[in-house]
Amino acid sequence: MYKLKILDSNFVTHNVKRFIVEKPEGLVYRPGQSVNISLNLPGWENELRKFSFTSLNDWPYLEFIIKIYEDHHGVTQQLGKMNAGSEIFLHDVFGTIQYKGPGIFIAGGTGITPFLAIFRAMYYSGNLKNTGLIYSNRTQHDVILHEELVKMLGPAYMNVFTREGVIGFKEKRIDKKFLIENISYFGGLFYVCGTLDFTEQITKDLISLGARTDSVVI
Ligand SMILES: Cc1cc2nc3c(=O)[nH]c(=O)nc-3n(C[C@H](O)[C@H](O)[C@H](O)COP(=O)(O)OP(=O)(O)OC[C@H]3O[C@@H](n4cnc5c(N)ncnc54)[C@H](O)[C@@H]3O)c2cc1C
Repeated sequence: MYKLKILDSNFVTHNVKRFIVEKPEGLVYRPGQSVNISLNLPGWENELRKFSFTSLNDWPYLEFIIKIYEDHHGVTQQLGKMNAGSEIFLHDVFGTIQYKGPGIFIAGGTGITPFLAIFRAMYYSGNLKNTGLIYSNRTQHDVILHEELVKMLGPAYMNVFTREGVIGFKEKRIDKKFLIENISYFGGLFYVCGTLDFTEQITKDLISLGARTDSVVI
């Protein structure tokens, strides 16, 4: 376990906060991996929550992008109040998404975080090819790091908004019809990350459209 200082923090959307944390010597992690984190605050030391690394192992610091849930009165609400100088505990690192090669990535909300690390690793090594992203959020104000995703993926990056807050806006969902309209080949690799419901429903739809069970990484 490591005790680490937050070096910097800022809100990247109205409820998502980016943390820059000092990197301990000896820590090694891969894109797509996550870690259990707790807080060095009285009573919070043993409240472990899972977060994905969005930084890369060769960066001199760690980065986490974390949605703050004010109404859970849990760890993320505390993180909403923590800034440079506060301390966190880093516990065990574990695999979340295993990168197997180019494919279509489908993310909902903060489900983008493990994908962000994978895209960054591929982009900086010049290998981000034949990769598409379908990124679902409630509104455009909920999209995390939009400009960077545009820079890395260009036209292979598509947004879907389930609510726009505009009268007359037709709610869009990533359902079977949407997948048929937007994906022409189901024989490749798919990566899906989001809430349990989101992941289960999309995986089921992809498989019913011809994707192989072992080609859908969740
Ligand atoms: C492998 C993995 C990687 C993840 N990576 C990231 C990441 O990179 N970024 C990110 O933002 N998230 C990520 N998550 C999600 C993140 O772990 C949760 O958002 C986080 O644990 C929430 O912690 P919390 O203590 O604030 O709230 P919770 O632990 O969800 O809740 C705390 C308390 O609030 C109660 N509660 C739960 N839901 C509600 C509700 N709707 N209203 C009121 N009370 C409620 C619970 O009963 C609980 O007692 C990841 C999850 C997994 C599994």
